[in-house]
Amino acid sequence: MAKKFLQTPQGMPDILPKEQIFFERVLAVVKDFAHFYGFKKIDTPILEFTELFEKGIGYSSDIVEKEMYTFETRGGDSLTLRPEGTAPIARVYLQHGMQNLPQPLKLYYWGSFFRHERPQEGRYRQFHQFGFEVLGEQSPAIDAQVVQLSYRILEALKIKPLTILINSIGCNLCRPYFKKVLKNYYNARAGQICPDCKKRLKKNPLRVLDCKEEKCQQVKNQAPKIIDHLCEECKNHFREVLEFLDEVHLPYILDHYLVRGLDYYTRTVFEIVPVDVSDFGKGKEFEAGSQATLVGGGRYDDLIKLFSRKEVPAMGSAGGIERIIKEMKLGGERLPHSKGPAIFLAQLGDLGKRKSLKLFEDFQKAKILVAESFGRDSIKSQLKIADKLRVKYTLILGQKEALDGTIILREMESGRQEIMKLDKVVDMMKKRLKR
Ligand code: AMP
Repeated sequence: MAKKFLQTPQGMPDILPKEQIFFERVLAVVKDFAHFYGFKKIDTPILEFTELFEKGIGYSSDIVEKEMYTFETRGGDSLTLRPEGTAPIARVYLQHGMQNLPQPLKLYYWGSFFRHERPQEGRYRQFHQFGFEVLGEQSPAIDAQVVQLSYRILEALKIKPLTILINSIGCNLCRPYFKKVLKNYYNARAGQICPDCKKRLKKNPLRVLDCKEEKCQQVKNQAPKIIDHLCEECKNHFREVLEFLDEVHLPYILDHYLVRGLDYYTRTVFEIVPVDVSDFGKGKEFEAGSQATLVGGGRYDDLIKLFSRKEVPAMGSAGGIERIIKEMKLGGERLPHSKGPAIFLAQLGDLGKRKSLKLFEDFQKAKILVAESFGRDSIKSQLKIADKLRVKYTLILGQKEALDGTIILREMESGRQEIMKLDKVVDMMKKRLKR
């Protein structure tokens, strides 16, 4: 058994070089879409004051109750490793007076997030998300646009099939009444639900709809639906969101019990799952909030009001990059490996070594990728490496050549060798590589 400190902490995997190409691909697509949809990049620190998340995500949410990495600094402040990206964006908006910029403000981010969850496939303690946030706009067109953008990114990454689960959880006018209706329904069936749901009913009744316990599913299946209790404005808003989605032919399913785990949501909530829309309703329903949700999001019109007196309607989404990459691989997505170097630079003797360092830099300035193994002295072992790298050419700079101002070019396949002038070699190789 290896020593514990020589392992990564549980649920916090390394991202090895062979995985990087997938991350780079996701980032490239996200960047491209963000640009076309008018989003500007924002980076926030990995640590924030704990209160930001407690107030923003909600004291009774699972994240705040059980999953945050919180510590006291030497200065006595309580800081938390960010578990999500939306509360920090609300802070950014207020801290930098962004309400004075043209609205809506569209921001996107990308980075690592931390939740002390039970590690399992698709669920980590450190994971990566990209996210989109639109602040200062309440139009349902924006809700639809965020859903559309999230969906198109997954589509561009060739993930198939995909379905959008969508619901409206109302506003602070209609939701309190629905909570009462829901509570009454569940209280009348208290004997049939799990102990956690009993607690949820007291603290955060909507969350009973999120419960994965078998016995609670039965109760949930007959539970009242929030859509039947929305106020007129919320109903119209939701109807329009759906009309916009129809307009762009996005496959969605109304999921009446989708509530999502963060307290700040109002009205639209959605998730995108890798399931065919035609599989719903055939007993193959997908469990919302399970490990396969690729993107989740919604409207959070009351979040900024929690921190200031400003009314700033907003809408956002976040995608789990590890889960997206897993789906890309399942779909057989094999990314081309980044192109390796075509030239290997071998050197012999002190002078050869010294001149090689300079030559290596000249190639770099000419943007020609060159491999080397400056640590090795024997030509045999260097040629072996060149062979392994499958380079087309090896340049050999020995003691004699270094003194002459020449260099040997070896064509690896034929083994043919020729001598070139050292000060011309970069130009000559540029021409050869173009052939
Ligand atoms: P959330 O911030 O909870 O709305 O999550 C948004 C997305 O991030 C989810 O749909 C997942 O794809 C991903 N995600 C959330 N938590 C984790 C986790 N612990 N490990 C891996 N991915 C996660």
